[in-house]
Amino acid sequence: MDYQAILNLIERELTPDIKLGKVASYIPQLAKVDPLKFGVYLYCHDSTSYQFGDSQEKFSIQSISKVFTLIIAKELLGKDLWKRVHVEPSGTAFNSLTELERDQGIPRNPFINAGSIVVADTLLSALDHPKEDLLKFVQKLCGDDSISYNEAVAASEKAHGYRNKALVNYMKALGNIDNDPDDVLNFYFYQCSIVMSCEQLSKTFMLLANEGRHYKTQEQVIDPQSVKRINSIMQTCGFYDEAGEFSYRVGLPGKSGVGGGIVAVHPKHYSVAVWSPMLNSKGNSALGMKALERLTTLTGLSIF
Ligand code: GLN
Repeated sequence: MDYQAILNLIERELTPDIKLGKVASYIPQLAKVDPLKFGVYLYCHDSTSYQFGDSQEKFSIQSISKVFTLIIAKELLGKDLWKRVHVEPSGTAFNSLTELERDQGIPRNPFINAGSIVVADTLLSALDHPKEDLLKFVQKLCGDDSISYNEAVAASEKAHGYRNKALVNYMKALGNIDNDPDDVLNFYFYQCSIVMSCEQLSKTFMLLANEGRHYKTQEQVIDPQSVKRINSIMQTCGFYDEAGEFSYRVGLPGKSGVGGGIVAVHPKHYSVAVWSPMLNSKGNSALGMKALERLTTLTGLSIF
């Protein structure tokens, strides 16, 4: 498979559409990004890699971080985690309040904000140094100690995260948050502020394309059964109320973030990350969705 030729074609085809969508502005710090950034990095099972554009520039991974915290929480809590958060697709916006009320404070899945806030709460209870431990985990998976939080993004979200405050307080009222809501949100805002490049993300997510093994050291980090579970949740819930659309168009498990990043994995084949900050109305990268649709169409490879 000539992945580089396919990526070059995708870049040529899609660059004229680069102005589709809008950069996220409800977190003011995110609005400062150059909207015309566009990059892809694809890391293959055989350790070859292919890329174009701004694939090595770091950006705010936002909700992509929800996969990392879920992996850790699932390892620490096992099945008990599912008493606090379910695994059903939401069909509503990632920050929906009405759905949480209908679901009596048990979030539909760990990738909507309410669900990830519950996951953050479990990590706060289970870990002595949640912030440090999360960063170390991501750094280890990537094999790169330079990965860090972005203080300005975390502070910006803290100052404007009224919906998330509503979600955490509502869940606290219904008994599904153990820690102080402000502490939980603080940690949640930090996890969302992690900055990584497409290259770093695709290497890190190889864990989920490599049966739970580290892409470089081949250390077994999580077991293949856990990979099955996490990938299934990404497939059904990774794009909120656009999960069906992404699944239909791309045919891979993936996760997006309002920073404009999307990661998708094709187990035993590759992990791919794309970044284009302009979002569609569901909060997913408009060009990123198109790029991945073209990738699985042009390669003829998807999980289906
Ligand atoms: N930090 C963002 C929020 O909580 C993450 C949302 C996202 O990336 N979809 O609103």
